[in-house]
Amino acid sequence: MVKICCIGAGYVGGPSMAVMALKCPAIEVAVVDVSRPRIDAWNSDRLPVLEPGLDAVVRACRGRNLTFSADVDLHVVDADIVFVSVNTPTKARGLGAGRAPDLAYWESAARVVAAAASRSRPGRGKIVVEKSAVPVRTAEAMERILQAHVTGSGVGGGAFQVLSNPEFFSEGTAVRDLLCPDRVVIGGRDTDTGAVRALADVYAHWVPEDRIVTTGLWSAELAKLAASALLAQRVSSVNALSALCEATGADVSDIARAVGSDGRVGGGGCGRWFLDAGVGFGGPSLRRDVLNLAYACEGHGLHEAAEYWRQVVAVNEYQKGRFVRRVVASMLGTVAGKKVAVLGLVFKKGVRDTRESPAVDVCRGLLSDGARVSVYDPVVGETQIRMDTAAAEVEVEVEVEVARDAYEAADGAHGLCVLTEWDEFRTLDYHRVFDGMMRPAFVFDGRNVVDAGELREIGFVVYAVGKPQDAWLNGMPAVA
Ligand code: NAD
Repeated sequence: MVKICCIGAGYVGGPSMAVMALKCPAIEVAVVDVSRPRIDAWNSDRLPVLEPGLDAVVRACRGRNLTFSADVDLHVVDADIVFVSVNTPTKARGLGAGRAPDLAYWESAARVVAAAASRSRPGRGKIVVEKSAVPVRTAEAMERILQAHVTGSGVGGGAFQVLSNPEFFSEGTAVRDLLCPDRVVIGGRDTDTGAVRALADVYAHWVPEDRIVTTGLWSAELAKLAASALLAQRVSSVNALSALCEATGADVSDIARAVGSDGRVGGGGCGRWFLDAGVGFGGPSLRRDVLNLAYACEGHGLHEAAEYWRQVVAVNEYQKGRFVRRVVASMLGTVAGKKVAVLGLVFKKGVRDTRESPAVDVCRGLLSDGARVSVYDPVVGETQIRMDTAAAEVEVEVEVEVARDAYEAADGAHGLCVLTEWDEFRTLDYHRVFDGMMRPAFVFDGRNVVDAGELREIGFVVYAVGKPQDAWLNGMPAVA
């Protein structure tokens, strides 16, 4: 029986291994993590990751062929295939701070695998699979760490084969994407080796052969960064257009429709994907992957290419700052002492994740301009909201208010910002919201979810990203 172990029980390791266990009942899958609370949560009824369909998948195989454990060494020693799915955040300090990936967790996991080698049965090889998003040629570093440990241990060189199998799923649709992926990419030094075939055979339990793409190692590693970079670039492109739309009276939704119906842009009948203007992209991966790509270009002396990718991130920062400046400018140039409701803190609907969320940056911007910010998100609790906004609060010594619903957040507010496209924000009783707000009552729609015409009839002054501007805003400067 093939045994699989995945190091890292996070957003990627948990769901991807649960689906693998579901589809391969004859394979034993263990997901391990150094974080005991994370493992406890995976073993409880309240999973640490919110993904539609995940509970059912985990329930179907936990205790059958799926185990969550904090005993990392035990399961790594025992496994034939070891996935490494640990976090690779951007470095906070030192060389490349703010741009380069921090590979400390990845290296600690590599050392765990290497140490396990010396305790594995002699002659029993392992396939080590990178699932984390890593810089190109990280697999080479993994090979070196493994080689350094196995020499003289009786396991023998060549006992390991390192593969790259990046994860492309989207948070919020992870289970659907894992069950029916557009493609599975498996990179190896030699695509004809047994290791590539062995991993492809695992996926072949549920993924059609023509969707399993085998490549060289470096191509697979780069494919992940490239996919993120192209998605981020698309969002920044449409957001750059949204600024021009506001200045000229064009409507960015019309532009997206007109442009997305061109098969060369929209492709595959999904023309509108990633063509919706908004307050900016977020989430744990996009910004980091683009900066990693730029950093890699820089490292190879490709300065113009690096600058190109950095601009994708710069436009995202511009879009968030532009939104805050719009709020301030519209509210007569100052938000000091005014209550502003923020609806939505996660970076997109369907997730519980606030990492790199534009809404957090907007809160910080408003707080630092002296606003009293009241936050409501249907899935984010008070502790998380306070943690996310803490840095700005310390600077201005003002705490955010945490509301139990949208009406409480808006009560007594001068302005209301919609920053996540949760469905419930489309269907609020905006008459009730209006009645509770100060006059003039402003709505700033950062996700184009409200019906601006209807809200204007109620009496709101409405700003919507990339849309023709409200008469009130016409005379106002676009920046404070
Ligand atoms: P995460 O932070 O949710 O989970 C990583 C887990 O690894 C943590 O629970 C941590 O405790 C554990 N860990 C770290 N070092 C360890 C070690 N030495 N031994 C055992 N456990 C260890 O991260 P994530 O979102 O699952 O991302 C994992 C990787 O996948 C990252 O490189 C990320 O960029 C990439 N990725 C993420 C997404 C996404 O949507 N979140 C999508 C595709 C790819």
